[in-house]
Amino acid sequence: MKKIMVISVITLLVILIYAFDIQAYLSVDGLKHSVSQLEMWRVERPLLVGALFFSLYILIALLSLPGAAVMTIGAGALFGLLWGSIIASFASSIGATLAFLLSRYLLRDVVQNRFDKQLTAINAGMAKDGLLYLFALRLVPIFPFFLINLLMGLTTTIRTRDYYWVSQLGMLAGTLVYVNAGTQLIRLTSLSEIMSPALLASFALLGVFPMMAKYVVKYLERRRVYARWSEPEKFDRNLIVIGGGAAGLVTSYIAAAVKAKVTLVEAHKMGGDCLNYGCVPSKAIIKSARLAHTIRHGEHYGLENLTPTFSFRNVMARVHEVIRHVAPHDSIERYTRLGVEVLEGYATIIDPWTVEIKLNNGGTQRLTTRSIVIATGARPVVPPLPGLEEVGYLTSDTMWRELAKLDAPPARLVILGGGPIGCELSQSFARLGSQVTQVEMASRIMIREDEDVSALARDALTRDGVLVLTEHKALRCEKEGERKFIVLEHKNIELRIEFDVLLCAVGRAARLSGYGLEALGIETQRTVITNDYLETLYPNIFAAGDVAGPYQFTHTAGHQAWYAAVNALFGDFKRFKVDYSVVPWATFIDPEVARVGLNEQDAREKGIPYEITRFGLADLDRAIADGTTHGFIKVLTVPGKDRILGVTIVGEHAADLLAEFVLAMKHRLGLNQILGTIHTYPTLSEANKYVAGEWKRQHAPQRILNWLARYHSWKRGA
Ligand SMILES: Cc1cc2nc3c(=O)[nH]c(=O)nc-3n(C[C@H](O)[C@H](O)[C@H](O)COP(=O)(O)OP(=O)(O)OC[C@H]3O[C@@H](n4cnc5c(N)ncnc54)[C@H](O)[C@@H]3O)c2cc1C
Repeated sequence: MKKIMVISVITLLVILIYAFDIQAYLSVDGLKHSVSQLEMWRVERPLLVGALFFSLYILIALLSLPGAAVMTIGAGALFGLLWGSIIASFASSIGATLAFLLSRYLLRDVVQNRFDKQLTAINAGMAKDGLLYLFALRLVPIFPFFLINLLMGLTTTIRTRDYYWVSQLGMLAGTLVYVNAGTQLIRLTSLSEIMSPALLASFALLGVFPMMAKYVVKYLERRRVYARWSEPEKFDRNLIVIGGGAAGLVTSYIAAAVKAKVTLVEAHKMGGDCLNYGCVPSKAIIKSARLAHTIRHGEHYGLENLTPTFSFRNVMARVHEVIRHVAPHDSIERYTRLGVEVLEGYATIIDPWTVEIKLNNGGTQRLTTRSIVIATGARPVVPPLPGLEEVGYLTSDTMWRELAKLDAPPARLVILGGGPIGCELSQSFARLGSQVTQVEMASRIMIREDEDVSALARDALTRDGVLVLTEHKALRCEKEGERKFIVLEHKNIELRIEFDVLLCAVGRAARLSGYGLEALGIETQRTVITNDYLETLYPNIFAAGDVAGPYQFTHTAGHQAWYAAVNALFGDFKRFKVDYSVVPWATFIDPEVARVGLNEQDAREKGIPYEITRFGLADLDRAIADGTTHGFIKVLTVPGKDRILGVTIVGEHAADLLAEFVLAMKHRLGLNQILGTIHTYPTLSEANKYVAGEWKRQHAPQRILNWLARYHSWKRGA
C-alpha cells in the first residue's frame, strides 16, 4: 500500500514538472534563453533562488529525469564556479542518494527475490568491491547518472552513507568541469562541447585507475608471496594431490579425466576417513544394530517377541567386510587405471612447486608441480582430560580395529559428544546391547539442529536405552585397580560413572601440521585458510575437504574437489568460486535427521524472515504401514511465497527424502512444483508432496474461494 502511494506521488511530480514545462529549461538552449531572467531573480533574492535551484536539482535527480547535467551547467552560469560547484555537488549527491534509496525501496526486493540465484555472484562482488565500482562509474561521466542510481539501489550491500560520500567524491571532477562550462554558457552551443574525447578518455582512465591499482596490488602481493622461492623452469606434474580421502580422490580423478599429469600421495589408507573409519563402517554397524532392534521389537509387526541373538564378533567382521567391499572404488589399482599416479608415502610441501614424498616402502622422491591440492583431512579431537591416557580411550580412528577383537559389545560404554557421530554410535551400541551413557556439555544433543529436532533425537536415543546426559562436563578420568571411571560435573555437582570402554566423539580437527604449511607460512586457524576459489596464501596451492572446512562431509569434500581441481588446472583462464548455497547433510540415527538450507535457529540468527509448514509422518499411509510414524517434515519458505529456504526431515529414510528438496532448492523450484509432481503411492516420498499441499492450503486465496462459493450457490439457484 505504502509503495503504491510512493509511486503515485512520483507520478504526480513528473506530471507537474511536465505540466509546468520545466523540462524546456533543461537544455543548453533553454538555459541560455532564460539565464538573464534567472540572473535577475538571483541578484534580487539570492538565498531563495539558491534554495529553489538546489531543491529542483534534487527533485530532478530523485525522479531520474534527464537534465542533471544541464542543472550543473546552470549552477555555473547562475552562481559562478565556487558556489555553483558547491550547490551542484551537494544537490547531485543528495538527489542521487535519494534516487538510490527510492530504487532500493520500490524495486530491490522484487528484483532480488526474482533473480536471487543470478544475483548471488553480483551481490558478493558488490559486497567486496561495490564502492570501488561506484567510484569508477561516478568518475567516468559516460555512464548515465540516473542509471547508476537505479542499478545501485538494486544491490543488497552498499550502505546509504557510503553511497552518498563515494558519489560526491567520484562526481567532483565532472561537476567542476560542467560548472566551469556553465560560467561560459553564452559561448556554449551543446552539451557535447563540454567533454572533448581527450577529456573523456582521461576521465575513463581515472575511472579504471582504482581497479587497475587493485590488480597491481594483487600482482605485487603474489610476487611478494613467492619472492623467497625460486620457481622451476619445468614441472614434473601439473598437479600433486596430498591425501587419498574423498577430497583427494575426486580431485585427482578430475585432473586425470582432463588429461593432466597428476600424482596422488596417500600416507596411510586409500579412501581416507570415510571408507576406513567414518561413513562406511558407521553405516554398516548402524544396519546391524537396526536389524537387532527390529527383531527385538517384532511384536510391533505381529511377530512373536524375539531376542536377537548374534555374535558381536560377526557384526564387526561384517563392518570390515563392508569396508573391503567398497575399497576397490578407492583403490590404487582403480585410480592408476584412471590415469592417476598414486604414491604411497608421506608428502611434505618443500616450496610452492615442490613436494617431497617419503615413500612407505623406503626412499624419498621429490616432484615439482604447477599446482598442489592439500586434501589431508581431519583427525578425531581428544579432549585434554586428566587421567585419560591412564584409563585408555577409543576414537573413530581406533574403535573399528579395537572393538573387532571383542566377542561382545562393551558392557558399559561411555561416549563423549552429542554431535552426529556421538549420536549414531550411541544408538547403535545401545541397540547391540551395550549400556551406553552419552555425555554432552551443551544443553542438548545435535545442537546445530532446531530444538524440536534435538528433542526428538533425544527421545529416540532414550527409548533405545541410551542415558543421555546433557549439560554434563567431563572433568577427569580415574582408575582404581582395573576399574575405570569418568568424573562429570553437572550444575556444580560431581558424579562418577564407571565404564568398560570410553569413546571420544567430540569433533574432528583439521590436519594442519607436519607437512610443510608452517615453513611456507600458509595461514591456518581451525582449518587451512582459503579464499572463495579454495586458494591458500599461494594461488597455486589449494585446499579441499575437511582440512579446508567449513563442512566436514564426504559430499562437501567431493564438491570442493571439483573447484580445487578446475581452479588449479585452468585458473589462468577462468576461476570458479565454490558454491555452498545448497548443502545437505544427515545424521543417521533412527529416525534419521536430514537437513538442507536454513532451519529456524539459523533463520532467526541471520534475521531472515520465514514461514513454517509442517507435515507429521503420523498421517502418511506408508509410514503407518511400515510402523515408522515418528517424525516430520518442516519447510521454511519466504513469507507469502513457495520459495524454499530450508528443509528439515526427521523420519525413516529422511536423507533420501531430502534429495527432492535439494534438487528443488538448487534449481529454484518451489513448493508449487513439488505439489504438481506425481509421487508414487504408497511411498515415504509422498510426505514431500503433502508438506507442499499443507503450504498450499495455508496460502489458499480466501477471497477468491468465497467468491467461488457464491458462484456455486448461484449456479444451484440457492
Ligand atoms: C564416524 C564417522 C562417521 C562419518 N559419517 C559421515 C557420513 O555419514 N556422511 C558424510 O558425508 N561424512 C561422514 N563423515 C565425515 C567424512 O568421513 C569426512 O568428511 C571425509 O572423509 C573427509 O574427506 P577428506 O578427503 O577431506 O579427508 P580424509 O578422508 O580424512 O582423507 C585425508 C587423507 O589424507 C591423508 N594424509 C594426511 N596427511 C598426509 C600427508 N602429509 N601425506 C600423504 N597423505 C596424507 C590421510 O592419511 C587421509 O587418508 C564421518 C566421519 C566419521 C569419523
